Amino acid sequence: MGDLICIEAHDRDWVRFFRDPWDCDWCGLPTRGRVYEETQTVVCSACRKPLLEIDSDPRHYIAFEEDID
Ligand SMILES: [Zn+2]
Repeated sequence: MGDLICIEAHDRDWVRFFRDPWDCDWCGLPTRGRVYEETQTVVCSACRKPLLEIDSDPRHYIAFEEDID
């Protein structure tokens, strides 16, 4: 049996929304926004309040990136 090393590189259920930081209207912190699975709302990565809603196909907007905040 080999050693099993589990790296939780994908331990999240959201994707980044903005390419460049956006100042959150709620907390004022820069955020790239998050869209959680099963939702169509972009939320602040700091305070988790909604920044905007996606009301059409989100694939037009989202740049799926694998880096982590
Ligand atoms: Zn915020």
